[in-house]
Amino acid sequence: MAEKRDYYEVLGVERNADADTIKKAYRKAAIKYHPDKNPGDKEAEDKFKEAAEAYDVLSNEDKRARYDRFGHAGMGGAAGGGGFGGFSGGGFSMEDIFEQFGDIFGGAFGGFGGGSRSRGPRVNRGSDIRITVRLTLQEIAEGVTKKLKINKTVACDKCGGSGAKDASSYSTCSQCNGSGYVITVQNSFFGRMQTQSVCPTCGGAGRVITAKCDKCGGEGTERGSEIVEVKIPAGVAEGMALTVRGKGNAARNGGQNGDLQVVIEEEHNPQLVRNGDDLVHQLNITVTTAILGGEVEVPTIDGRARIKIAPGTHAGKILRLRGKGLPNVNGYGRGDITVIVDITIPDELTKEERKLVEQLAEQPHFKRAAEPENQSILERMKSFFHG
Ligand SMILES: [Zn+2]
Ligand SMILES: [Zn+2]
Repeated sequence: MAEKRDYYEVLGVERNADADTIKKAYRKAAIKYHPDKNPGDKEAEDKFKEAAEAYDVLSNEDKRARYDRFGHAGMGGAAGGGGFGGFSGGGFSMEDIFEQFGDIFGGAFGGFGGGSRSRGPRVNRGSDIRITVRLTLQEIAEGVTKKLKINKTVACDKCGGSGAKDASSYSTCSQCNGSGYVITVQNSFFGRMQTQSVCPTCGGAGRVITAKCDKCGGEGTERGSEIVEVKIPAGVAEGMALTVRGKGNAARNGGQNGDLQVVIEEEHNPQLVRNGDDLVHQLNITVTTAILGGEVEVPTIDGRARIKIAPGTHAGKILRLRGKGLPNVNGYGRGDITVIVDITIPDELTKEERKLVEQLAEQPHFKRAAEPENQSILERMKSFFHG
């Protein structure tokens, strides 16, 4: 068996890299070596698994600390015979990787804090809160900071979240002898394995409370609310979620706060319909403007703009207001406003109008409709939306 590579080297990060850097490095490797992109390539598959294994360790504080102290030996594996971790010996299977880290691939909007933290046993953490914010087109175009009142559990103000009556109200946990962890042995596909998990008695704290806070009854939490400022970048779209770390529910007994997930909802704007970073407007012009040309107004994000209509404009013609659409959320420029021209035909006519139109109908350019052009309206729409 080949010598195992250093996990930091596998992900190409410094030994002091923070969690975000590690996550990004893993995502990059995972995308590069993803089996869908490298069908039948055994080397890519091995690299993909190797990266997943490195990420499993480096993304977990406890495993990482152990790895930093003891190297691969601290992770169990072939040499150690058992040990911690849960993938000793056989490495990761593809199923394991997708089950455990599936969420990291889902980052359709990469850069700005999407995706949730890796799951798995965790020391006493509060639950996440998910809320929806509704944004107008203008807010999406400019980006906006929202002050949101979040109803949630907060740390008890009497005990500061510990749940204890005072500093002397503790004793060492007897189940884990203060370590906060218990070891369980399991038989699995890979053989007999030891798994380290959070002590169920003390929740990882290593000590238990002997006298409870009388305000919260030892929970360490109470119902409350917090005003959270959320900075929403320009260009977000319906369904995107921003994660605000540590602004979810408080955990029992002074554990780690959950996260706040802010899900974006777009207010429907019937005048400007979003298509990626572009905005589409259906412009109705009169028959006479279509024939003679003229100037008309179209709505924009922050007002109205005047545009010229050329004489002889057909229904289905597409005009573009370059750079008047939405900014790209990843900073790649700005979309357009796309104007699709439609021509309004009057439903009713006065006697006089009818007479005029009848006269017009006898004129040479109005006598006969044109042969179908090589591009019908339908085809133009099709090519606009698909390419
Ligand atoms: Zn309390
Ligand atoms: Zn314990």
